Amino acid sequence: MTSFPLEPGSTIGILGGGQLGRMLALAAGRLGFDVAILDPDPDCPAARMAKVAIAADYDDPVALKALADVSDVITFEFENVPARAVERLLGFGAQVAPNAGALAVAQDRVEEKTFLNGAGVPTVAFAAADDAESVARAVERFGPPCLIKTRREGYDGKGQTWIEHVADAEAAFARVGSKPVIVEAPAEFTRELSVICARSRSGEVSIYPPGENHHEAGILRRTHAPAEITPSALEHAEQIAARILTALDYVGVMGVELFELEDGRLLVNEIAPRVHNSGHWTLDGCEVDQFEQQIRAVAGWPLGPTAALAQTEMTNLIGDDVDDWKKLIAEPGARVWLYGKREARPGRKMGHVNRLRPLKD
Ligand code: AMP
Repeated sequence: MTSFPLEPGSTIGILGGGQLGRMLALAAGRLGFDVAILDPDPDCPAARMAKVAIAADYDDPVALKALADVSDVITFEFENVPARAVERLLGFGAQVAPNAGALAVAQDRVEEKTFLNGAGVPTVAFAAADDAESVARAVERFGPPCLIKTRREGYDGKGQTWIEHVADAEAAFARVGSKPVIVEAPAEFTRELSVICARSRSGEVSIYPPGENHHEAGILRRTHAPAEITPSALEHAEQIAARILTALDYVGVMGVELFELEDGRLLVNEIAPRVHNSGHWTLDGCEVDQFEQQIRAVAGWPLGPTAALAQTEMTNLIGDDVDDWKKLIAEPGARVWLYGKREARPGRKMGHVNRLRPLKD
């Protein structure tokens, strides 16, 4: 039986071996933990940082047993971990954090928004639809334009499309693969913000200053943090984060994506039950970054301070942006993070750079 807090020298298992797993592994190593990674790719970015690397599918029972056997606690770097895999891990007696309920909520956009509204957290108006007719009915109700997104497995703008007229419902439903969808009313936002927050095993909540996010072609390009934000919006963002974490009895770091409306109100777009790209600024802009915070939380350690030490601009290095690494490492005030991916394909996140300036008064 695992007992918390974990002692240094314990092993943290991670499902997923991409850049988030790699940065989790680096943070774990700094605190004296070993790491075991399960990922189908034996050459994935995190496997090369790990004491144990298991190359297998996420639902491979033999691999899951091997991971459970070596790990004192298991976490994940992406939210589409098959529910069956988590059940198996729990069946093997493993400790898994965040919990399966939080994963289930984050895996389905309808469940997610239903949960959020039930917890008193505002979102856009939405409806579930399983066919083109129910899509058309929802668009009629909200008024076009509306956005439809597949309920499951969409990311970086994939699996979603706008509907400009009710008559487009059938074509739009076909465009997203004729799968169950969520129909969303448009958010007339002026900015996209996100809050990285965490909850410990003892129920302590900590929240990083919100960041302001800019996307290009559906992919996060830049985060500025701390964002300039009114005291009341900050208070609302913190209240939203705390409500979500507490309602899910959550342990770990979560990314909460927000729309800021013209009148200053905030709506939640989606939640990510893991460390988040828009929190990479914390690696250099905060005393304790989101990766260390995640390791602290799942290990049953107290959470670390989240105040910003610098004004930080995080820029993702996407595709062959990474070829500029020599120039970037020579740039004063720029902190470069490279993920060790072997091939720079278009749209692939290869690294990021944090540019630091002194905090404004
Ligand atoms: P998502 O995959 O839900 O994060 O959506 C990707 C991007 O689409 C968001 O970052 C927004 O820029 C935009 N978006 C998503 N939902 C809405 C909405 N209901 N209204 C307007 N824009 C949206």
